Amino acid sequence: MRNHQLKIYNTLTRQKELFQPLNAPHVGMYVCGPTVYSDVHLGNCRTFTSFDIVFRYLNHLGYKVRYVRNITDVGHLVSDADEGEDKIAKKAKLENLEPMEIVQRYTNGFHQVMYQLNNISPSIEPTATGHIVEQIEMTQQILKNGYAYESNGSVYFDVKKYLEKYNYGELSGRIVEELVAGQRELDGQEEKRFAADFALWKKANPEHIMRWNSPWGAGFPGWHLECSVMSRKYLGETFDIHGGGMDLKFPHHECEIAQAVGATGSHPVRYWLHTNMLTVNGQRMGKSVGNSILPAELFTGNHALLEEAYSPMTLRFFMLQTHYRSTMDITNDALKAAKKGYLKLINGLKVAKNLLLQVPTLPLAAEANENIAKETHALLAEVYAGMDDDFNTAMAIAALFNILKKINGLHNQSIKLDGYNAATLETLLTTFIAFIENVLGLREEESVQMAQMVPVLLEIYKEAKLNKNYGQVDVLRGHFKALGLVVKDMKTGIDWAYDEV
Ligand code: AMP
Ligand code: ZN
Repeated sequence: MRNHQLKIYNTLTRQKELFQPLNAPHVGMYVCGPTVYSDVHLGNCRTFTSFDIVFRYLNHLGYKVRYVRNITDVGHLVSDADEGEDKIAKKAKLENLEPMEIVQRYTNGFHQVMYQLNNISPSIEPTATGHIVEQIEMTQQILKNGYAYESNGSVYFDVKKYLEKYNYGELSGRIVEELVAGQRELDGQEEKRFAADFALWKKANPEHIMRWNSPWGAGFPGWHLECSVMSRKYLGETFDIHGGGMDLKFPHHECEIAQAVGATGSHPVRYWLHTNMLTVNGQRMGKSVGNSILPAELFTGNHALLEEAYSPMTLRFFMLQTHYRSTMDITNDALKAAKKGYLKLINGLKVAKNLLLQVPTLPLAAEANENIAKETHALLAEVYAGMDDDFNTAMAIAALFNILKKINGLHNQSIKLDGYNAATLETLLTTFIAFIENVLGLREEESVQMAQMVPVLLEIYKEAKLNKNYGQVDVLRGHFKALGLVVKDMKTGIDWAYDEV
């Protein structure tokens, strides 16, 4: 395993900490997944892509990561609180479908988008409805420990009791007095004893369709409980990383901590990671805000705010250009710049792969020149330094562009090859390739049609050039341009690249 000083910003301690997994090389990571009652928007995609990068980089460093990302298919109410309709049941009623049809439809859609964005599937993708028994058991455990009470067929977490020993608000920085200040006094008629209490289990009204039997009667689990249960089941009582968007810090993650501590007495998570928001005109993109852009709308350009279509990899590159803890505003200018940057990097990737194939035939030195060896080491160290600094993809990308200059120079022979030996050049090229493909998860978006046409066009072009048939050369250049490509006539030969304009 690579010996790296990876630092992670921990939202709980509010500082960067050295990453030291509990059971290295094994790492447990839990990320809150989508509530599957509608299509995911680009904001959701940003968060899931950020954790894909965490997963990929830890894998790259040699850790064996068990990555759990749940599907919320029950218990998340329209209000995001304890009262109201279930988001999935509401949609099912509107469309006259079974709730599980809604769940399946949007789970499928979510998976398709994750695939388009080249996000790797998690190791386990558990559902809330698949863990009702465990949620009932955890509720019983919290009751037994005295941190919950039953009231009229529902069970609530007892925040006041918890506060006698623990700190509710430690993650989000919320202060309980302030939380309840805005709310009206409970008059004793309510189910809850204290306004900050939250539901572990809710009694189902007769019209509530998603319901299960429990020791307290028919009901359904509170939204926060599923994540406590599933993370503990698959990763243990204490695990390494828990992630989600920063809007989940309160109440969702604060409640998760309280539930786990209430049940087991131990804090569940070593490193809490929260991603910042994707914004549109400075406002958080959100379903409830009504400013969502869907991936399909971006990929087709079919949205009032979009001047053109942008590809999945352009979107991915756009996201990676900003560190996950900074806000990111989506604009046409930023997307166009991202398209350019992405194509430049992919052109570099093609060049690096070609150069790697040629290593055995290149005029290289037997021993690397000491300066070149040092310089290569420094260039690569810069990429790692970016990722080691709390997964700073923006820094890593800037470092990759520095390496790209070097690789392009070596390819077009403006930089001499003879200071390199095979090992040094191979390390430079393979690390560059591995970072783009495996760590950043960027891939070439070549269509089948293009893959078939381009080699043929290139052969005809070479022939026309050889025969000094310049009319045909111009026509062929036009064909390349129409495909978004350019022909490159270099000292070292003729090749094609993506047009970066
Ligand atoms: P949801 O299905 O609404 O619970 O959201 C799934 C994930 O997307 C959660 O981790 C949210 O925090 C995250 N999320 C929601 N809106 C945004 C946004 N505008 N930018 C980044 N992440 C978001
Ligand atoms: Zn969760």
